[in-house]
Amino acid sequence: MGDQRSVNLNILHIEQSLLIKEMVHDVVKSIGHKYFSTKNAEDAFRLLEENEINFVITGLELSDTSGDEWIKSLHLSKYKDVPVIVLTSTDNMEIRKKLFNLGVVDYIVKDSITDVKLKEYIETFEVQDEVLNKMHHQSVALLDDSKHVNTMIKNIFNLHGIKNVDSYYSAEDLLASNKDYAIYILDLILPGISGKEALLTLRKKAKNSIIILISSINNYKTISNILSSGADDFINKPFDASVFMAKIKAHSRNFILREELEYAYSTLEKVAITDGLTQLFNHHYIINQVEREIERAKRYGHNMAVVLLDIDNFKYVNDNYGHQTGDEILQSLANCLKGIVRKSDSVGRYGGEEFLVILPETNLEQARICGEKIRKAVENMRFSVKNLKITISGGGVALKEQNAIELIKQADEGLYESKYNGKNRITYKI
Ligand code: GH3
Ligand code: MG
Ligand code: MG
Repeated sequence: MGDQRSVNLNILHIEQSLLIKEMVHDVVKSIGHKYFSTKNAEDAFRLLEENEINFVITGLELSDTSGDEWIKSLHLSKYKDVPVIVLTSTDNMEIRKKLFNLGVVDYIVKDSITDVKLKEYIETFEVQDEVLNKMHHQSVALLDDSKHVNTMIKNIFNLHGIKNVDSYYSAEDLLASNKDYAIYILDLILPGISGKEALLTLRKKAKNSIIILISSINNYKTISNILSSGADDFINKPFDASVFMAKIKAHSRNFILREELEYAYSTLEKVAITDGLTQLFNHHYIINQVEREIERAKRYGHNMAVVLLDIDNFKYVNDNYGHQTGDEILQSLANCLKGIVRKSDSVGRYGGEEFLVILPETNLEQARICGEKIRKAVENMRFSVKNLKITISGGGVALKEQNAIELIKQADEGLYESKYNGKNRITYKI
């Protein structure tokens, strides 16, 4: 995907062998990052203290301690959030599991093309593509009873610039938190409420979130059961950091697309019912709204009223102050109307300088009060043109047996009488 940008990383390498040191140094330098190196844990801590290290590449033999002890002590220190990658010559499942449980993000097995692999590896971290950029704002909940696994996964996210990650050690805590996350990573086997139960509960409230189960269980029945319970994916432990992240990214891409689509759809929906100039409901929508409110009023035996308003001598305003001032007046008037009516009322731009106000659960007397409030408020409105004032005329009517067209027509008759009798008034039709 486009829009890629590079970041400069400080990489600390702990290694005894000069040969490997040189190789890693060359790789790190060739892609423009800063290389720090040492043979022992003590010095490594000093370098961590003095430099803002982004991640650590370590061998498993140090001059002052064992690899295990060093990784453990690192994860107990304040640098526990610095991701650790092991570069080792031995590859077996036991070591893989052990390192994984120590919170190591990943490991690379030394061979003849380690330099190529390492380069590619660091480059995947370095590249911040479009999906990752958008993912930076997403929140992640991690649920795993193992502190190390929790830290390790957090580190993988951090390494990719996703910092908004909360760790939970029991499903009870996660469910009680009442926070909503874009991504959930759930361990399947937990003491107390299981990962699967957590999945079922979370899926009900977080329909669009990405929920991924992780477990060392590798049994097709379990996996299909989890997936049909609403999980987006199932990832086996121990896993590869790059594979893990690639999967999360694939799901996030869908998540982001879905969100963008929903946003586009809701925008489109809004545009279809909104008047562009005033942001009030448009002619089409406000008439439909009258029909809906009539139906509701009839069904529940409620009152209902509408008031049709028209700016007085608006042509004069346009001719003397310009169309732009006219537009400003329409916008100000729209805001004024919205500010006065109740939340359950609706205001629409019925025509050029005509507005329709729907007042549900309102009888004619109450409509009169509301109309008077509006008329006075408009009289007192001030605009950017000094001393410019406007007034409105209107017609109000309460619902009896009319349909929407008849109701609006009666309001219009009231409006006509108001104009005829001198404007700046609202006439109510009984
Ligand atoms: P009356 O008091 O009888 O209502 O007189 P009036 O001048 O307000 O009524 P008329 O129907 O003669 O003119 C309405 C004016 O409203 C003319 C038109 O240019 C103006 N108008 C309608 N829509 C817009 C708009 O979107 N922007 C601006 N600036 N003016 C508009
Ligand atoms: Mg007018
Ligand atoms: Mg008019």
